[in-house]
Amino acid sequence: MALADAQKHRLFAYRPETGEERYSSLLGVPILRGGRVLGVVVIQNQTAREYGDEEVEILETTAMVLAEMVAGGQITDIREARYDSEDAALPQRLEGRALSPGLAKGVAFIHQRRVAIDRMLSDDAVQEEARVRVALEALHIQLDAALERPDLSASGEHREVLETFRMFAEDRGWVRRINEAIHQGLSAEAAVQRVQEETRVRMSQASSGLLRERLLDFEELTNRLLRQLMGGDEDVGLQLPEHTVLVARSLGPAELLNYEAGALSAVLLEEGSANAHATIVTRALGIPLIGRVNGLLSRVDTGDDVLVDAANGVVYLRPGDELTANFDVALEAQGTRQETYRNLRDVPAETRDGHRVSLLLNAGLLADVNHLAETGAEGVGLYRTEIPFMMRATYPDVATQTSFYARVLDEAGDRPVVFRTLDIGGDKALPYLQSGAEENPAMGWRATRIALDRPVMLRHQLRALIRASGQRELSVMFPMVAQVSELDALHRLLDMEMERASGLGQELPDTVRVGVMLEVPALAMQLTNLLPRIDFLSVGSNDLVQFLFASDRGNPRLEGRYDSLAPAALIFLKNVCNSCRDAGTQLTVCGEMAGDPVAAMALLGLGYERLSMTAVSVGPVKAMVRSLPLEDLMAYQDRMLHSSAPSIRRYLQGFARDHGVEV
Ligand code: PEP
Ligand code: MG
Repeated sequence: MALADAQKHRLFAYRPETGEERYSSLLGVPILRGGRVLGVVVIQNQTAREYGDEEVEILETTAMVLAEMVAGGQITDIREARYDSEDAALPQRLEGRALSPGLAKGVAFIHQRRVAIDRMLSDDAVQEEARVRVALEALHIQLDAALERPDLSASGEHREVLETFRMFAEDRGWVRRINEAIHQGLSAEAAVQRVQEETRVRMSQASSGLLRERLLDFEELTNRLLRQLMGGDEDVGLQLPEHTVLVARSLGPAELLNYEAGALSAVLLEEGSANAHATIVTRALGIPLIGRVNGLLSRVDTGDDVLVDAANGVVYLRPGDELTANFDVALEAQGTRQETYRNLRDVPAETRDGHRVSLLLNAGLLADVNHLAETGAEGVGLYRTEIPFMMRATYPDVATQTSFYARVLDEAGDRPVVFRTLDIGGDKALPYLQSGAEENPAMGWRATRIALDRPVMLRHQLRALIRASGQRELSVMFPMVAQVSELDALHRLLDMEMERASGLGQELPDTVRVGVMLEVPALAMQLTNLLPRIDFLSVGSNDLVQFLFASDRGNPRLEGRYDSLAPAALIFLKNVCNSCRDAGTQLTVCGEMAGDPVAAMALLGLGYERLSMTAVSVGPVKAMVRSLPLEDLMAYQDRMLHSSAPSIRRYLQGFARDHGVEV
């Protein structure tokens, strides 16, 4: 921003409490690294003046150097030092991980879960055992009632979450250990708490994230049982005032569902992770969620005003009028944007110069498939089948899988769905599949590699997919294929299942389309052999880029170091696109790149025509497509591919600005 008269700007705000001096002109540039804004460098002048190109350039260079220093850890995190000494009642800005997107404003409510026990010992073991039995029965009735809630009946995953939860409640081992503790002289409450402590110690040492998530479920269950023992669970159906921001250390799915979903504006957690059950439920209910907010509970009180920016993972506590007014502008803009995107639903995804593009949806929950109609996406370009597997305590049999896939296809109606076979292993552990610790799980025993070593699992999945398709089209996509010979082996398993189904006289899909994900760079060296064997190729840019740059996508120290818009990545992707065009093979991108408007623009500029993304990205990407002069971009971008810059993102942003492309 270069403003000669900053005070005239719509968003200008004077904050005397910061000790800021009055000024007229302002020049500010963002401190950017890998597309993320780390901060802003600003210069101000008391007299009104215009800033020239040279000054802008100097400040941009300064910001670039600062960005490298911040990323290299040479500048300490001032905010951290400040938090510790700050008076808790002052406005505060906290950061966490955005786990379910959106902006929200509301009043904090601290979720209570600690249960104080007043009677620790008992000499009547029989009576204490009976009390546990009665409390467990009441707990079962309560969980059953939660399962019957009408707003859950539409999407099966929530039910599965709760059912998993109920399974814990029926675990005989758990009840046995409680009874043993009672026989040692403890009261029912103290026995339940003792087993909780033991389990906590045992499970918290587990390195698996999934086990730790299950521990949270278990804690929630134990607390409910304790509340039953101590005179009823008064939390059930808890009424909250409207616009509540629920604050907790961690939250189980059933605890979340105890609250009236309509009253919840947002959820904030000290813990929480992307694949936790409660996260999946908030996302499906469309409630913004920020997790991993350090020190949250020590800084917030029930009744505090809170602003939640779950687009950027930022929370403002007790924000004050000016910040709230600015946030209101952002909220209003969010509303207007969503309205604009809704209006785009039925218009074609066509560039300004008349090129058609296909926008598809990435899904993993049945609830995601509902977004097809809402967004106007043409179909599901990536259905991540592992998500329902990860949410269960046991392996789903063929019948369970069949009914699930059939529901996905029914829900999608005429729109095609590409089912990706299980991409498990590595960080996506299944509780019922032992794979052992690995040093490099992302490059380890995962996905297709497991499928080829344990073919029964894949055969069951293919069997279910064939049955679920009936006489409809079936599209199957294999992840993490590194060699053509692997595809051949996978294809043989598919053929065997087709023959089996036909031998049993079952209905067969009217067409079977077979595709492969391009995630391992080596596969791109085999396109001549690969492409004639497949119906479609889909670029999994999340994995592809990490392998291309040998840069772990989950390592925070490498975050932003290698951009997917680096010339190396784009040249790679261009070659793939050219080969597919020559061979006439359908090509899609289904990694996160496809849903980022600037990166999506770059992909179109390389010649890609099909992009698959999460539901919330469809509107913004369509707005970009419709404002894009594609041929001009192609000419410009082709030249940029020879740049030695680490990323051409800034040039593309410049192109978008100059040509009125909405990114
Ligand atoms: C990818 O790697 O780009 C991809 C879509 O798969 P996932 O993110 O599920 O690994
Ligand atoms: Mg992948």
